[in-house]
Amino acid sequence: MWAGRILCAALSRAPRGCRPQSALAQLRGILEEELEGIREAGTWKSERVITSRQGPRIHVDGVSGGIINFCANNYLGLSSHPEVIQAGLQALEEFGAGLSSVRFICGTQSIHKDLEAKIARFHQREDAILYPSCFDANAGLFEALLTPEDAVLSDELNHASIIDGIRLCKAHKYRYRHLDVADLEAKLQEAQKHRLRLVATDGTFSMDGDIAPLQDICRLASQYGALVFVDDCHATGFLGATGRGTDELLGVMDQVAIINSTLGKALGGASGGYTTGPGSLVSLLRQRARPYLFSNSLPPAVVGCASKALDLLMENNAIVQSMAAKTQRFRRKMEAAGFTISGANHPICPVMLGDARLASCMADDMQKRERGRSNAERQRRARQRSMSPGANQGLRRRWLFRRECPSLAEEWP
Ligand code: PLP
Repeated sequence: MWAGRILCAALSRAPRGCRPQSALAQLRGILEEELEGIREAGTWKSERVITSRQGPRIHVDGVSGGIINFCANNYLGLSSHPEVIQAGLQALEEFGAGLSSVRFICGTQSIHKDLEAKIARFHQREDAILYPSCFDANAGLFEALLTPEDAVLSDELNHASIIDGIRLCKAHKYRYRHLDVADLEAKLQEAQKHRLRLVATDGTFSMDGDIAPLQDICRLASQYGALVFVDDCHATGFLGATGRGTDELLGVMDQVAIINSTLGKALGGASGGYTTGPGSLVSLLRQRARPYLFSNSLPPAVVGCASKALDLLMENNAIVQSMAAKTQRFRRKMEAAGFTISGANHPICPVMLGDARLASCMADDMQKRERGRSNAERQRRARQRSMSPGANQGLRRRWLFRRECPSLAEEWP
């Protein structure tokens, strides 16, 4: 008994009693073990702290001088476009910092309605609904739309948020092999017994930049009476002739029923997501989608930035075309320098080193070298490099190597 009291006193200096403290000590032990496992596997993700705006050139804590950033999903460079920033400031000034409410209680402003209408117009769909993120749009859709009478057929490499969204719904679940239309057809045949069939796929897959075979998927969907849903986060704003996305690129805009996408990548890069599609579906989501019903409205500044990004894209096609040209140039030059770049002709240009640990070590190493260099030393090496025949080799050290290298846009003044 005394021993128990002494242990209790040792574990707990705070007046909370010994039981919760010992549970906490046990939890700490479990967590430490788990964390050590991640470190040992070489998959520990450390976060570099950016001290500047997002852009092709950034400043990072602990590294003197700027570095080139190939890791963000700031595909069009709009997250630091002066007009986008100005629109955000104006919305902040006019509509305040935030709504302190969800949409249906007292959180809908005119700018939310305007942005939803603009998104629907951009995608040439009937209506659109905003969410705090595309993760939320994916969490909200399937549960609200599908019942135990229905079926969802999902590419095995779909984004985590689609997978989680599908987990939340009670429909029958079929998983087809990545991009494999023959397997999808087999699963569609099996799924004929259900009321609705929904094929769910990323438009472009973020890890390798590979593109879903939407023409085949839509053909099968029509043959087997299925709907097609596309998560187009890595295509909205820049794929296709006018940047509408993967469905435009592959000529199936009229066959993809539902699109979810993000405002947090090409469209200004702040945050927010949406579903666009049939008006009745959007109406149902406003009644039933839990992340819409139970999470705060998008802040006005975020709405202002995204709205301006869409204006810029709808006014003029030049940004989209310049992105496509830069992608081709980057892929060509990297391959000529001896790197293997995988994926389709998409601005996600995964530099394949073939080993996750190696990629992570290489990124850290490049930053350490950068950190260790004095200004004078850097200038001396830059001079040397520019005089040497393999002048661009030195650049490799300055890239943050990740699997995605899409930020190829020009820096805005
Ligand atoms: N879907 C895909 C394919 C994504 O790549 C991402 C983000 O990385 C999301 C959804 C989530 O988007 P958001 O950041 O708006 O939640």
